[in-house]
Amino acid sequence: MKMLLKSGRIVDPSEKLDTVGNLLIEDGRIRGYPSDTKTIEKDKKIKIIDASGKTVTPGFVDLHVHMREPGFEHKETIRTVCEAGAAGGYTSLVCMPNTNPVNDNATVTEYILLKARKEGIVNVFPIGAITKGEAGESLAHIGEMYEAGCVGISDDGFPVMNSMVMRNAMEYVMAFDIPVISHAEDLNLSGGGVMNEGHVSNKLGLRGIPNASEEIMVARDITLAGLTGARLHIAHVSAAGSVQLIRDAKARGVKVTAEATPHHFMLTDEAILDYDTNAKVNPPIRSREDVDAIREGLKDGTIDVIATDHAPHTEDEKKVEFDLAPFGISGLETALPLSLKLIKDDVLSLPEVIKKLTFNPAEIVKIGRGTLKVGAVADVVIFDPDDVFTVDRMKFRSKGKNSPFHGWRLTGRVEYTIVGGRIVYPN
Ligand SMILES: [Zn+2]
Repeated sequence: MKMLLKSGRIVDPSEKLDTVGNLLIEDGRIRGYPSDTKTIEKDKKIKIIDASGKTVTPGFVDLHVHMREPGFEHKETIRTVCEAGAAGGYTSLVCMPNTNPVNDNATVTEYILLKARKEGIVNVFPIGAITKGEAGESLAHIGEMYEAGCVGISDDGFPVMNSMVMRNAMEYVMAFDIPVISHAEDLNLSGGGVMNEGHVSNKLGLRGIPNASEEIMVARDITLAGLTGARLHIAHVSAAGSVQLIRDAKARGVKVTAEATPHHFMLTDEAILDYDTNAKVNPPIRSREDVDAIREGLKDGTIDVIATDHAPHTEDEKKVEFDLAPFGISGLETALPLSLKLIKDDVLSLPEVIKKLTFNPAEIVKIGRGTLKVGAVADVVIFDPDDVFTVDRMKFRSKGKNSPFHGWRLTGRVEYTIVGGRIVYPN
């Protein structure tokens, strides 16, 4: 099977490539960048896609996805999350272990990978739990999960409150060179909070979660990464102080990377003024100063990755009073246009945005994707950077319609998503 993507703007930060040209795919891999395509086009079996005016990049890699299966199939399934990912330009989803059962042993890991091979149209890479049942007490079966295919460990959804357990986890993973992904939250400080602590929470009479709840744990985990030498990745950075801590740690040579979500760099806690439960997320959407600090962190490289923290819930679950609603935003299908807004806002260039959506996340979990290098697996996305559309959350392929971006006019739309040389979107 051959495919020729003609005359697109090819942007591949892994190869420092930004040029208008042709991309040839053969047998599921990147074959080359032919300048003269006349003979190639004579091949009757070739599929030709006119990409002129479009942008061609490696398929996106999402480091932070809650697939919900097994256990919460009413919220999302492996099938639907992969369809949502494909529609959003994602070819690889790295999925968090807080399913039911928790992915804390090889049997669950193997189940997820088997189901993904059968029903998933994009690549799925599981993250194993740090502790059994994500209970924070004893270490999960990390070695066997690594053997089964886990690309990192995290208790995401919860922090590991016990510093000794976190230290042991970091020492343990050194042998496998996989990252420990930290959901940085001091539960004693955040307990019972439902939104950012500040003047908006005061005004609404809702219990706040202070920035310190995140910053303290970021500081602790950086300290432990320095002590052990393990690779630490900070998930969903929301607070200005965390950005500064990560910046300082990187300057000192600590092996730390970080991600930010589109909702944390696009929204402030004012999004909650009308008690919109679709903007209720953990860590919470914070103040203007925090948003500015995250954008500064994206710009200077402190924040390496844009990840969605895709966390689908049903309408019924979100249609309750603010205090009772679950945390989470369905993010896969709006991440690209929201990330492209960073270009208009003078935060990042297009290649920088693409690097944070492709090569950087792929490098952290070492999956060998996020590149259009000749010979690489042909995971490719073609998007129209100028297409303006209105977000309609009810049209999401994800079962989770919980988006605070409903009704927003956004620019940039995925036209084709290609996984291993096969078109998976549109399908
Ligand atoms: Zn989390």
